[in-house]
Amino acid sequence: MSGEVFEARHLIAGEWVGGGDTFASYSTSDGSLLARAPIADADVVDRAVQAARRAFEESDWKDRRAAERANVLLELGRRLDDAAEDISRLVAAEMGKPYRLTLEREVRGAADKFRYFAGAARAIEGEVTGASPAHILDVTVPHPVGVCALIIPWNDPVDLAVRKLGAALAAGCTAVVKPSEETPASTEALMRLFDDLPGLPPGVVNVVHGPGDPTGQALVSHPEVDKVSFTGSTATGRKIMEAAAGTLKRLSLECGGKAPCLVFSDCYFDKALDALSWGAFLYGGQSCTAATRIIVERPLYERFLEELKARAEALPTGDPLDERTLIGPLVSERQVERVRSFLDTIEADGGTIVTGGTIEGLHVAPTIVTGLQPDSRVASQEVFGPVVCIFPVDSEDEAIEIANSVRYGLGASVWTADVSRALRVTRRLEAGDVWVNTHYVRQSETPFGGWKESGLGRELGMAGMREYIAYKRVAFDTLPDFHLKTWWDQQA
Ligand code: NAD
Repeated sequence: MSGEVFEARHLIAGEWVGGGDTFASYSTSDGSLLARAPIADADVVDRAVQAARRAFEESDWKDRRAAERANVLLELGRRLDDAAEDISRLVAAEMGKPYRLTLEREVRGAADKFRYFAGAARAIEGEVTGASPAHILDVTVPHPVGVCALIIPWNDPVDLAVRKLGAALAAGCTAVVKPSEETPASTEALMRLFDDLPGLPPGVVNVVHGPGDPTGQALVSHPEVDKVSFTGSTATGRKIMEAAAGTLKRLSLECGGKAPCLVFSDCYFDKALDALSWGAFLYGGQSCTAATRIIVERPLYERFLEELKARAEALPTGDPLDERTLIGPLVSERQVERVRSFLDTIEADGGTIVTGGTIEGLHVAPTIVTGLQPDSRVASQEVFGPVVCIFPVDSEDEAIEIANSVRYGLGASVWTADVSRALRVTRRLEAGDVWVNTHYVRQSETPFGGWKESGLGRELGMAGMREYIAYKRVAFDTLPDFHLKTWWDQQA
């Protein structure tokens, strides 16, 4: 980091524009002012949406060969790879995710997603219905859905934007991106890679900065927006669903999670401990699939708890810009206060903090809690901090009951050497992304998304691609007569 303040701008019809009220983000490394960004009011949002609408209707973006859109995405992948170290330092400073994790898992992973969507663009297919009578040619034709509002949270400010943008652009849509107000610089650093991008008409991609109110609200309720893709909390997802109802917009919602991890006595013990101590505390727990509820068969419980505690206490915590740091700070004081409000309820709810529970600046120590009821506040709600609840159970049924007892259904993991048990348990888990004997495995090619109140729709893979496609069925009739009249005349 050079120490310069990042001056963020809106991107509208190919021009970077500022003006009006501003907000700021601060370094999680040293507290200094990191970025200033303008707040888009309803008028600025309208200009951005109109620019995206014009680019959709008037440019040739949606009508080109997919190979041409793929070239644009491949160039973005190259640019992101080239800028990966600088962008990762910015994300680490602004968001608090340690530099090495940001570089390898988020930013290089995002460059790969641009390349994935370049390929996916060329693999979009429609259908011909084989069941139709011979005189009818029944085809289902893919079309881009139109103008997309892409709403990004702060915890993966680059990768989550790329998942949405990659699919939207591959499909031939145009977009308005709204970064999180916590990480305006991180997402804008990605968006600056669109400058002078060969083959991209102005207005295909736009950016507006600002908080949920007024910026996000104005965007998701705008009548010229055809689709909203949102990643963020379940509470905000609900509001967006209401706002989008006015014009029945298409919706993808990637919301909160409270991942259960079911550890059976026959598990690969060390692997489970390594994975779940990282799974619980990586990113300071600021991940929608963090291992926040560990459910352990009773014969293993005491030993597992003791060793999990030892591992949690040994994790290298510190400055997010230090390459040795594995666990960094939380994103902001606001988030720290949120986590504190959860920690404050543990004792009253009958829980015991076995390790952690302390806060220093933006750093919350990895925290393990026992003795809570599965429906208590900390055990059932998303904390989005490094806080894990651990439960002993006496049977597979009890483990599954606890796992499925919350309103979320995003990530889950199952730890057993018994394949039959793994099949039985994964089948009964109410979650969209289930890992067996691992945690945090992600691929550009596999769809990701939630069940229950963790969301709607999928990102990544061809399922993620289809979220940006509207299918149109077209029936061609080769008969000389109109079939209904022929039928009517035959009845007479
Ligand atoms: P958030 O819901 O507070 O904000 C997310 C985004 O929505 C921000 O850009 C915000 O400005 C915007 N927003 C807020 N109110 C809005 C409104 N009324 N209309 C339109 N936009 C609005 O979430 P956050 O705190 O930034 O992120 C953390 C949350 O994201 C956690 O709940 C986490 O689980 C979730 N998340 C989910 C996934 C997933 O894939 N399921 C991935 C990462 C994060």
